[in-house]
Amino acid sequence: MSPSARSRKASADPHAADPVAAAPLDGAEPGAVAPVPAPVAAASTGPDALRRVMHDPSGFATIVELVPWAGELGDARGQKPLRMAADLSGNPRITSLSITDNAGGHARLSPDAPAEAVQALGHDVIVHVACRDRNRSAMQSLGWDLLSRGLTSVLALTGDYPVDGYAGMPRPVFDIDSVSLLALLREQGAAAVAKAAADGQPDPERHTYLLGCAIDPFKRLERDLVPQFLKLAFKRRSGADYAITQVGYDARRQDVLLRWMRREGIDMPVVANAYILAAPVARAFHAGRVPGCVVTDALLEVVEKAATGPDKGRAYFLEFAAKQLVVGRGLGFHGIYLSGHRDAGEIARVLEMADAHPADDWRSLVKDVSWGLPGAFQPFESDGAGLNTDELGKAYARSLTSGARARAKAGVDPVYKLNRLLHERVFEPGSPGFATWGAVYGKVEALHLGRPLHVLEQAVKVPLFDCRDCGDCSLPDIAYLCPESHCQKNQRNGPCGGAKDGMCEVPGHTCVWADAYQRLKPYGEERAMLERPVVVQDNNLHRTSAWGNTFLGRDHFARRAADAAALPPGTEKGSRS
Ligand code: SF4
Repeated sequence: MSPSARSRKASADPHAADPVAAAPLDGAEPGAVAPVPAPVAAASTGPDALRRVMHDPSGFATIVELVPWAGELGDARGQKPLRMAADLSGNPRITSLSITDNAGGHARLSPDAPAEAVQALGHDVIVHVACRDRNRSAMQSLGWDLLSRGLTSVLALTGDYPVDGYAGMPRPVFDIDSVSLLALLREQGAAAVAKAAADGQPDPERHTYLLGCAIDPFKRLERDLVPQFLKLAFKRRSGADYAITQVGYDARRQDVLLRWMRREGIDMPVVANAYILAAPVARAFHAGRVPGCVVTDALLEVVEKAATGPDKGRAYFLEFAAKQLVVGRGLGFHGIYLSGHRDAGEIARVLEMADAHPADDWRSLVKDVSWGLPGAFQPFESDGAGLNTDELGKAYARSLTSGARARAKAGVDPVYKLNRLLHERVFEPGSPGFATWGAVYGKVEALHLGRPLHVLEQAVKVPLFDCRDCGDCSLPDIAYLCPESHCQKNQRNGPCGGAKDGMCEVPGHTCVWADAYQRLKPYGEERAMLERPVVVQDNNLHRTSAWGNTFLGRDHFARRAADAAALPPGTEKGSRS
């Protein structure tokens, strides 16, 4: 176990310690069951409801999170999510129930078993799939399993780093990431549709996945926030149909996300997250115990004050979530994702409270749900009323000018400059050195003398990059930073949601993607850093010469080139490599 992993393990588990479970996009602990009052307004519900709502430009989804228990479905705790699902069934306000996958990195019942039971109650169901615990083959197996069970709505997630497990800390998998998982499921669903059509099955399109992804717009620093947005665009190109925001309490940031998407042409519906707070959960978020979740000092103060009330602030927290719903709808979100609830009755109360606010009055509620981090980077100018205009923030716009970039370039690390030069002259296909070194490696391997060259390569790359000899090198993809050694989840297609202030969710490390963004910005290349095909690492190349694999066309760059050559012009983005 690494020291960083040890310190993660030592950190408290907010689910275990708190009466209300807390995990970003992954955690709410259902409690006692209460009846749901009659719905106030009609909405799409039942099988495939989310697909209908997401395709309806004026649709608004209400998604409720369910968290499986650490035990079998039939035991008393295992039944609670199902009882809650039963209480919510038939309620036309509920679009989907969303079932988490080892939320917060803690082992729980796999979501597919409760998903099938919840679906049998007549609900539309979202199954979370996290990359932490399964390799790509297990993902394919799971994908076929889900298709076979008619569970075609999936939320594709990277997953939090594990924090505990049987007889010690589990080894996280992270063989693929959320972007490549989207691509895998999109391809798998399309293949199933084609096969069903060829077999003459009725309604082959029923095998088409509805794929969701996560987006965290609540980062404080530019180098954390902008890469999140770049990755969102990448997820869209890779097959995402909609996005759900991470847990957050800042309407201005939510507005930033939607403005950025409009500006950049990222055309997909987004669902706003409303995690119903409680004092213990707010303390966990405030202390940074749940990756990606932020509760500011000011918000915590308000929460602590509310929690001194006779109901421990519950009415206040439900009203807070209701206001988040109203403001989210006003801002243009396509739905609300409710979590942190204790029972079905709380969901009904939030919806009732939201209905009590006139929809056109949402702007008056903005200040109540705006708890942004002090001094946070602002991509857009303020509108003076708590939200933004479409004009880029002045400081950000200045940093994008050629003069600012030239000044920043003067401070660039000389080793990074040298890497760029070397790549351009030697490693870039078509460069002066590429063909020469390709011929050299070809001869050397034909004579079975590759080993000394591999040793020489490692002698250079270990001290320079902390290379782990994966053989399918992504240094050119990530501004000459090694994802194997530098990223605790080996993320090759953009940052996960766990970074905070430039640091990884695993303590003691900077985020590789925040660092890459900083390196690329002086060259004006930061916005394009994820405008490329999805990288899927080939583990067959492990402990072989990455230089040899590049020059002799065996790595993902060669596969990318071959894929691009096979595609019609203009369709290269989002392809696998
Ligand atoms: S380095 Fe960044 S992308 Fe990698 S696990 Fe840490 S926060 Fe996530």
